[in-house]
Amino acid sequence: MKAQSSNFKLQTSGFALEVQRRSGENVFRCYYCQKCTVGCPIAYAMDYQPAQVLKMIQLGMREPLLKSSAPWLCVGCEACGTRCPNGISLAPVMDTLKYMALEAGYTPPETTVYALHRAFVNSIKIFGRVHETTMLAEYVLRSRDIFSIILSNYGVGITLLLKRKIPILPERVKALGQVKELYRKSKL
Ligand code: SF4
Ligand code: SF4
Repeated sequence: MKAQSSNFKLQTSGFALEVQRRSGENVFRCYYCQKCTVGCPIAYAMDYQPAQVLKMIQLGMREPLLKSSAPWLCVGCEACGTRCPNGISLAPVMDTLKYMALEAGYTPPETTVYALHRAFVNSIKIFGRVHETTMLAEYVLRSRDIFSIILSNYGVGITLLLKRKIPILPERVKALGQVKELYRKSKL
């Protein structure tokens, strides 16, 4: 029993330390005041709210967090970071949890969010910047959410194209090699 509890302690601190190292945020400074949760515009839709996510990291609750919808619903607005008395920003923490979940083989619970995430990341990987037209095409292929796309995104997209707010043909940035090197290092 003694050996079991010491193993548990090692495992929990290992998970929290990994999240801290990869995100660059000191997750141990959180004292659960919940100011981040109160200010988060998406907290109402998350299965675990921002302050809960921090507490679960401290407690080493790896599996429920890597299966959670919260990291996939976070929009990276940084409202939490500006409110936190300890200067903790949840956005990089949520990004870290997303990539840890993918590396561990968990299927993202929010499939359309993941489809948009992949299309966005791939667009920057190919062109060095987002090209909305090809990104939307990849999103359509990945999400297969044809009806809502026809009803919402395409109408807006066509209007933007006609008004020349988004380019039809993609443009590549000059330092594309450096962007690709970043992707290679981060294994995205
Ligand atoms: S605002 Fe900061 S200290 Fe308070 S619960 Fe959120 S992360 Fe923790
Ligand atoms: S960055 Fe994410 S967790 Fe923080 S307030 Fe915005 S949506 Fe919520």
